[in-house]
Formats: sequence, C-alpha cells, structure tokens
Amino acid sequence: MDKQHLWDETWLQFADMMAVRHSKCASKSVACVIVKDEKPISIGLNGTPPGHTNCNEIFLKRDDGFYKRAEYVSANTVDLLETPVSFIHDGVTYIKCSDPYDHHNWSKQHEIHAEINAIGKLAADSTNAFGATAYVTHSPCHACSLALIASRVARVVYAVGYEHGDGLDLMRESGIDVVHMPLEKSFKNTL
Ligand SMILES: [Zn+2]
Ligand SMILES: [Zn+2]
Repeated sequence: MDKQHLWDETWLQFADMMAVRHSKCASKSVACVIVKDEKPISIGLNGTPPGHTNCNEIFLKRDDGFYKRAEYVSANTVDLLETPVSFIHDGVTYIKCSDPYDHHNWSKQHEIHAEINAIGKLAADSTNAFGATAYVTHSPCHACSLALIASRVARVVYAVGYEHGDGLDLMRESGIDVVHMPLEKSFKNTL
C-alpha cells in the first residue's frame, strides 16, 4: 500500500470513529477532519450549535422510522383518531413521527453539517484550509461542496455515498481531487 493511501485510510478511519462516537444526530453520524501538512487542523461533526438541544435529545431512530420525545410533539400533529405508536425508553415517552421527513425538516433548520462546522472552526482562528485534504465520512452535499470549494481545499476523501451528495462533480470541475475510499471496519492492535 502506498504512503498516501495509508495516510488517507488512517485519517478517514479517524473521521469515522469521531462520527460514530461523538455525533449527536439521531439519523446519521458524520464527521469531517481537515488535514494540512500532515496535521489535523479542524474536526467538525454534524449537529446543532453549542448550547442548543441536540438532535438525539429530541429524536430517536428505530428500524421502523423516527420517534420523537413526547414533549416535542405538538398536539395538532397527532392524529386524534388513531392511537399514536409510542414506547418508553429510559423513563422517557417517545411517539412515532407520522411524517417520515420530520427529522429531515428539523435537521435542515437546526443542524450544521460536519464540513461547515470544520470550516467554521478554521474561520475562528488563524489557520486556513488552503491546499488541505478534507476527510469526510459521507460524500458532501451540494452546499458543503460549495463551501469546500470556497475554502480552497485540494482534496476530498470520503467513505460512503450520501443520498444527497450531489456535489462531487462540482468539486471535480473546480479542480479538487475527489477520492472515494470505502472503509474496512475493525482496525485493532492485537497484542
Ligand atoms: Zn439529526
Ligand atoms: Zn452538507
């Protein structure tokens, strides 16, 4: 395995671990790690801004769809003719979302994408992403692709295709080297 490939896989694995362990979105665990001159200079996760209620404090995803904490369900969205599907988890009552896009719509209003969070953190200090590589667990959406182009990253490496990830061609047309690298799970040191 060549050196570049090995480092790409390492940073992407790191992004994946950040996402799985630390994202507070009930739907998707996404992370973006920006690496420049062999150093991680910024890490972004998908989620609400600091101090705001986290997605997973409101929503819960199960095999049959999204559920919402009862206190966040407004009375006029509950179909009074049918008993809502609900369950209790850790003493909290959750009600099944009747609208499958409930989380999607809430997320668009409240959650910041991982790439934007990573780029935003750079704006708050003196470093920048010029010439850097962005390692993202999911292929960037259109808006994040535009932001990555604007921040002048040189490469984007992602692990899984995201259904709203239609910005790949746009980034390629802008001269960004876009690499799809599916990850093998389970890297572990065997002592
Ligand atoms: Zn979410
Ligand atoms: Zn995005």
